Amino acid sequence: MGWPDGRSAAVVFTIDDVFPGRSTDAYEAGGDLGAGVLGHLERLLDRHPQLHATLFATADWREISPVPSRRILRHVPSVHERGFRARLLPKGTMALDGHPAFISFLRSLPRTDVQLHGLHHVHRGPRVPVEFQEQDRSTCTRMLGEALAIFDRAGLPRPTGMTPPGWNAPDPLLAAMAEVGLGWVASARDIRTPITPGARANMSGQTDVSLTQPDLVGGLVHLPTNFQATSPIERAFAILDGGGLLSIKAHAVKNALGFIALDGLDGVYGNLLDLLFRELDRRYGESLWWTSMERIATSRAAREAGAPPAS
Ligand SMILES: [Zn+2]
Repeated sequence: MGWPDGRSAAVVFTIDDVFPGRSTDAYEAGGDLGAGVLGHLERLLDRHPQLHATLFATADWREISPVPSRRILRHVPSVHERGFRARLLPKGTMALDGHPAFISFLRSLPRTDVQLHGLHHVHRGPRVPVEFQEQDRSTCTRMLGEALAIFDRAGLPRPTGMTPPGWNAPDPLLAAMAEVGLGWVASARDIRTPITPGARANMSGQTDVSLTQPDLVGGLVHLPTNFQATSPIERAFAILDGGGLLSIKAHAVKNALGFIALDGLDGVYGNLLDLLFRELDRRYGESLWWTSMERIATSRAAREAGAPPAS
């Protein structure tokens, strides 16, 4: 892809699983505002004026445990949600429109956009932290409509794209996304496949898309995820030296009931990112486009339509 304004490569930074959960709840996911995970983001934005952040927020998060907890279920007689193997938060508990201070805080963050990360972030059956699997297109459309309505009521700008929970984006979901006006999807994470020209994503989610370039899938622009806390810095250099998109992932939840996310944004990962961003700036300077998935998708869509790339 030719990057705008003669830039040679691009970098984006995204954080998944953002919702108003506080440390007094099962786990913190942004609800502690500057005293929690978003405080680490604030410091990064403050120290790196070129950095743009994208928060993938769940409209009404209901997951408590990321793994099946039938043993818990047997001892919680009040839980009778058929087929759900995990204990769930009651509907609306974490809905974005019920947490105005959280929304104000998100909106106060500079150079930060909020995009969609599912409606409830749960699914029936053994794979809990996914959402869209066997649903047909009309069910997906209804769920997306419900999620977008929550964003609207919360006073957030309408999302333009989505990372589906668990990177799971079956065809009916992609069709439904296009139907409700979402233009891009980030549904492939691969932090393992070596960086070579033409490398394809082959780890979590979509496996038929470019590992380092925007691509097209189901009529939507696809943006890959190819770097996280555990990735060596040489991987970042290889992506950028090849003219690709360095797509850095973090998760808002570090510790979900003892399940530790390696890329949970804590002080250690924050410091590592601070060093990484400084090194990228030193090494690539003005040739690097610090941008967002949304801007890349807009630029790509304009190019498809024959317009000159926007900066
Ligand atoms: Zn998630």
